[in-house]
Amino acid sequence: MRSLRWALLGASDIAATRMIPAIESTGGRAVTVLSGSPGHAEAFATSQAIERATTDLGAALEGVDAAYISSHNPKHAEQAQAALEAGVPVLCEKPITLDLGQAVDLIALADSRGLVFGVNHHLPCSAVIRKLAALVHEGTIGTVTGIRINHAVFLPERLRGWRIEDVPGAGVILDITVHDAAVLGLLRDAPPATAAAQVARQGPWPKGAPDAVMTTLRWTDEVLAQTHDAFTVPFNSSSVDVYGSEGTLHATDALTQDPVGDLTLRDEAGVRAVDVGNREDLYVVSVRDFTAAVEGTGAVAVTGMAGTQAVAVALAVQEAAETGRTVDVVDVRGLLSPAR
Ligand code: NDP
Repeated sequence: MRSLRWALLGASDIAATRMIPAIESTGGRAVTVLSGSPGHAEAFATSQAIERATTDLGAALEGVDAAYISSHNPKHAEQAQAALEAGVPVLCEKPITLDLGQAVDLIALADSRGLVFGVNHHLPCSAVIRKLAALVHEGTIGTVTGIRINHAVFLPERLRGWRIEDVPGAGVILDITVHDAAVLGLLRDAPPATAAAQVARQGPWPKGAPDAVMTTLRWTDEVLAQTHDAFTVPFNSSSVDVYGSEGTLHATDALTQDPVGDLTLRDEAGVRAVDVGNREDLYVVSVRDFTAAVEGTGAVAVTGMAGTQAVAVALAVQEAAETGRTVDVVDVRGLLSPAR
């Protein structure tokens, strides 16, 4: 596998805690870091032993093989565009953009340049979630009728910045519901048709962006899904349940950053644990798949298209919560040119 030289666009917590170790474990190296603040860029570069620190996007992209974008959500689109225009493949954090048109333009730009463009949703890289999706698609539980995702967590103190402020790109929907949407994208062949939702501001912090949401999604083939996402639930075990005509699959404790969790199957024969195979670090899987795509020997775990569809679901949920109405979910495939 090639040793990619990476630009980190965003001196973020996720880069330091998960992605630099993942990059290094795949033989790659972060060689430059971009931040909006010179002091923060320098401090981050020093603490992570990165050669170059800069506040200049163009300079950050010089002499690199790949860009990993983990800046504030509103900056993703501009940075992804700059990287792709500089001929640099992009692995972008979720939400890929805050605007579907921008995301579609980025997909088109990457395609036109023949560049890899992936989204760093970690849950589709989980062995438990991958096995769950494989069993659903193999028909193990027959015809799917419903899905329930319980993804209510407690926001660690170190992450109580922009996520809970009343600023663009903040709030639990763009932070967690968008991950649920990526999981639903693996479980179903098409996006949901409609979304309804209610939000709340529950946390022990100043009231800002919504920090809890419950949603209902509906597909044209009569399948329903519910999600509960929150920053405000300190004691919980996450779960994904998929109900089918011949059985139910329960994934427990798998909606996390670590390679943990269990999968059980309940059907006519009773209840039994499912072997999910090798539990690799989710971020290592994401970086390794991206690297293979850049080498031309594999494919990204989550495509720009899949990441865009996840944002389309999240934006519909946001609009549904704001308006109190049931909202149509944009099917992103309809925004792309017929040739794609
Ligand atoms: P952080 O809040 O740690 O960093 C985001 C940006 O905040 C930085 O790029 C920097 O902006 C600014 N910043 C952070 N710390 C400082 C500081 N001490 N001084 C000045 N500026 C600072 O973000 P997260 O790591 O929590 O999230 C980054 C992105 O990654 C988001 O898009 C998020 O949605 C995504 N994410 C994805 C996860 C996944 O599992 N896929 C998990 C967690 C986050 P600037 O560079 O402009 O200076």
